[in-house]
Amino acid sequence: MRLDKYLSDMNVGTRKELKTKIRKGAATVNGIRITDPGFSIKGDEDVTFDGKPIRYNEYEYYMLNKPAGVITATEDRKQQTVLDLLGKDRRKDLFPVGRLDKNTVGLLLITNDGDLNHKLLSPKKHTDKKYYAKIDGRVTDADVEAFAKGLRIDDELTALPAKLEILSFRETATDADREDLLTAEHPESSLSSGVSEICVTIHEGKFHQIKRMFHAVEKEVLYLKRLSMGSLVLDPSLPEGSWRPLTEDEIRNLK
Ligand code: URA
Repeated sequence: MRLDKYLSDMNVGTRKELKTKIRKGAATVNGIRITDPGFSIKGDEDVTFDGKPIRYNEYEYYMLNKPAGVITATEDRKQQTVLDLLGKDRRKDLFPVGRLDKNTVGLLLITNDGDLNHKLLSPKKHTDKKYYAKIDGRVTDADVEAFAKGLRIDDELTALPAKLEILSFRETATDADREDLLTAEHPESSLSSGVSEICVTIHEGKFHQIKRMFHAVEKEVLYLKRLSMGSLVLDPSLPEGSWRPLTEDEIRNLK
C-alpha cells in the first residue's frame, strides 16, 4: 500500500494534504524519513507522522447503541448520522452494517470490513436479528402463530417465519411508555387500548420490516430496539448514543 493511502485510511489527513506534508518530511517508516508519498509499505512497519506513531488496523469494528433521531447513513448535510456519533477522529472508510429507522434504537455494528457486511446481510445467510418492542394494543396468540407461519405483508412481500414472544400487556400506559412512544411516526396513537411488550426475532432485513409485519396484523409499533444481530448482543452497559470497539471474542464469533 502507498504511504499516503495508509495515512489517509487512518484519518491523519486528506490524500492531498498528506502528499504535501510527506514531501516536506513529516513521515518516517522504521525510523527513516520518507519523502515519497507513493512509498510502498506492507502495514507492519513502525510509521510516524508529525512525530506521532500511527498504527494501522486493516479492519475496525464498533458496537453503537443507536439513539432515536439519528439516521443510519455515513454522511448527511442536514441530519446527524450514526457515523457522526463516532466523532471526528474516526477513520474514513467505516460504514453501518444494515439499517435501523431514524426512530429505532439499539444495536448497530459499524465497521470497514466489507466481507463481514456481506456475510451478515446476505439474504441467503438469514442472520437472526432480535428486537424488543412496545406495541399499541394487545398482541395475541393468533399474532404469534401468524408470525410463525410467515406473514403476507403486501402483494410483493411475504415475511419468512419469525419468532414472536409476548412479554407483557398492560391496560394503562405508563409515563415510560409515553416517553418511548415514537410520536413523530404515530401522532394519532392515544395508547387507550393498552401496551404490549414483545420480543421478535427475524431472519431477514427488509425495509421497515418489523413495523410492516405488525401493520399486517393491524397493530402499530410504538418503540423498537434492536437487541442482537447474529452472535452480537447489545452491551447492556452501553448508554444510548455511546459506542465501544468489539472485543476479540465478539469479532471472532461474528465471522
Ligand atoms: N424493522 C423496522 O421496522 N425498523 C427498523 O429500524 C428495523 C427493523
